[in-house]
Amino acid sequence: MRGYAMLKIGESGWIEKERPVCGPLDAICRPIAVAICSSDVHTLWAGAIGDRHNMILGHECCAEVVEVGSLVKDFKPGDRVLVPAITPDWSSEAAQAGWQQHSGGMLGGWKFSNYKDGVFADFFHVNDADGNLAHLPEGMDPVDACIMSDMVPTGFHAVELADVQFGDTVLVIGIGPVGLMSVRACALRGASRIIAVGTRPVCRQVAREYGADEFISYKEGPIFQQVLDMTGGAGVDRVCIAGGTVDTFSEAIKCLKPGGRIGNVNYLGSGDYVKIPRVEWGAGMANKTIAGGLMPGGRLRMEKLSSLATSGRLDLHKEVTHIFQGKEHVEEALFMMRDKPADLIKPVVIW
Ligand code: NDP
Ligand code: ZN
Repeated sequence: MRGYAMLKIGESGWIEKERPVCGPLDAICRPIAVAICSSDVHTLWAGAIGDRHNMILGHECCAEVVEVGSLVKDFKPGDRVLVPAITPDWSSEAAQAGWQQHSGGMLGGWKFSNYKDGVFADFFHVNDADGNLAHLPEGMDPVDACIMSDMVPTGFHAVELADVQFGDTVLVIGIGPVGLMSVRACALRGASRIIAVGTRPVCRQVAREYGADEFISYKEGPIFQQVLDMTGGAGVDRVCIAGGTVDTFSEAIKCLKPGGRIGNVNYLGSGDYVKIPRVEWGAGMANKTIAGGLMPGGRLRMEKLSSLATSGRLDLHKEVTHIFQGKEHVEEALFMMRDKPADLIKPVVIW
């Protein structure tokens, strides 16, 4: 089979590989449509997960099952499925402890294009199929379904980590495709005021449609100063972080009210330490909590989150700005995600 792979840090291309083998609990799938992620860009060009050789990229797709193992109960060849980016081993100790994302070690639930070949291929392997796949909901466009793999579960996880409550004022830092989903999740959770940080007009437009009330540019001075000015010095109840750098945490702590929470899903690609400003952290006594996490995967979560889309409460299609017809365009879409043209939110390739 063929797949589009990371050859080494900074180099990618099509390669030939053996079709993966299906274990008794597993499934082999073929993509129907795939989406490109900022994480693919970090993996390939920034060496975010270290060097990898001839590893097929991609972890966001909607797919058709072509083979299932003898112990798989709920899926059969021909079924169309949602595929979460994170596919834990559900019988692991970490999953039993409630940390399925970290089954097999820290971040170990992230298997596609990390510990094994990803989904930009003719065929790909899914472990624990009954626990990880979900049936494609009736009426959901496979293009939109790609947004379910990672953008929805990750953006929503920032809001879970920040524990947004009814009536909260929330700052969402970063409104790329992940942060946009955080904005939508804040609105669904009942935030009364959502302030969003990001500059690209296309992202601001969708953020407004998802429920953002006001905007801040990180290019026009410190975020915390702008937030304090907008809130009469009070600050915000919660901060969701889906963009920025290690220094963004200092800003977040400074504009957070005592007792507030930060939910981070941003990947911190450089810098050795996250600095917590002593005074604004109440000299250690401000009850300001920082939580950071990898998106949880799993079938139940995919079914629940996708029901928000099928019920009409979550419009997935707003995030898809570019659709390519044919897998040969995957490289163009990947380079587009790296270069982030002004009109881009998310590119999807129909395989
Ligand atoms: P994008 O690059 O598309 O968006 C980043 C956003 O952050 C943009 O709105 C950008 O603004 C803004 N931004 C950039 N620099 C700063 C800064 N210095 N301060 C504040 N805001 C800034 O990324 P994605 O939405 O695709 O992904 C967001 C992050 O989530 C990535 O780091 C990705 O790796 C991570 N991720 C994490 C996962 C998890 O499970 N935890 C899963 C998937 C992704 P502008 O409008 O100016 O571009
Ligand atoms: Zn992703």
